Amino acid sequence: MSNIVCLHGKSGLPSCPAGPQGLDLRFSVTLADGRSVTARRVLVATGLKDVLPEVPGLAEHWGQSVVHCPYCHGWEVRDELIGILATGPASIGHAFLFRQLTEDLTYFTQGIDLDEETRTRFAARNIRIVDTPVQEVVDNEDGTLGGVRLTDGQVVARRVIAVATRMEARTEGLDGLKLPVEDLPGNMGRRFASGMAGTTEVAGVWVAGNATDLAAQVGASAAAGALAGAHINSMLATADTNAALAATPAR
Ligand SMILES: Cc1cc2nc3c(=O)[nH]c(=O)nc-3n(C[C@H](O)[C@H](O)[C@H](O)COP(=O)(O)OP(=O)(O)OC[C@H]3O[C@@H](n4cnc5c(N)ncnc54)[C@H](O)[C@@H]3O)c2cc1C
Repeated sequence: MSNIVCLHGKSGLPSCPAGPQGLDLRFSVTLADGRSVTARRVLVATGLKDVLPEVPGLAEHWGQSVVHCPYCHGWEVRDELIGILATGPASIGHAFLFRQLTEDLTYFTQGIDLDEETRTRFAARNIRIVDTPVQEVVDNEDGTLGGVRLTDGQVVARRVIAVATRMEARTEGLDGLKLPVEDLPGNMGRRFASGMAGTTEVAGVWVAGNATDLAAQVGASAAAGALAGAHINSMLATADTNAALAATPAR
């Protein structure tokens, strides 16, 4: 999909209306190959992109040895030498979660303030703290992740790096809908704002999954899509009934 805009009935309003969902709306979706399709309702399920900190060598291992989610990767990284690369306040909670998976955890503060109480709590769980910034990720000869090089030249051996990414809803091609977005606290990310069953402030447009719920995993994303789909179907039934009523001669 390269672009999507809403038309209203046959008149082709330039921007999407706010208001009741029972209207007879039309959307035009232009695909990347140049074709276009028309839809009466739109469910945006474009997911999110994970934005990693700019550390050389980090992105190359994303999804393998550089991970973000203990519930997604926990089994695979259990008992490994794990490093937490701090990106903000969320990294502290991240550290305690990954500590459940390994006895050997090192927390790289990356210049982000860590208060004394947190340092004490880390010490109680044998989480080592490194305040010297990480300069780059170092690979083994076979290309696997070997550790991190600090700015003082020291290399700290690690097999896995856990990093709390900034999560941003994918918005490519959706500008024409003018969907409201909102930032989450602590630089966690940006999502499309939504209400009950994925409804949005733009009539005829729903959102589901990571595009609006940045923390949703596969199960929650699929469930949100199903709920939004049912709501859309209900709104179409209402719109069809309204149209039939309008076309019925008065008795
Ligand atoms: C490395 C990694 C590991 C994970 N492991 C797990 C796991 O083990 N278990 C689990 O439950 N969850 C896991 N997750 C999370 C899981 O991937 C998401 O929760 C889930 O994919 C969200 O589903 P979604 O449909 O909202 O978005 P997505 O699955 O991201 O789907 C969005 C789709 O929309 C497409 N798209 C975006 N923009 C456009 C456009 N303009 N035009 C056309 N298509 C577009 C994208 O290409 C993509 O195919 C993992 C995530 C990552 C990053």
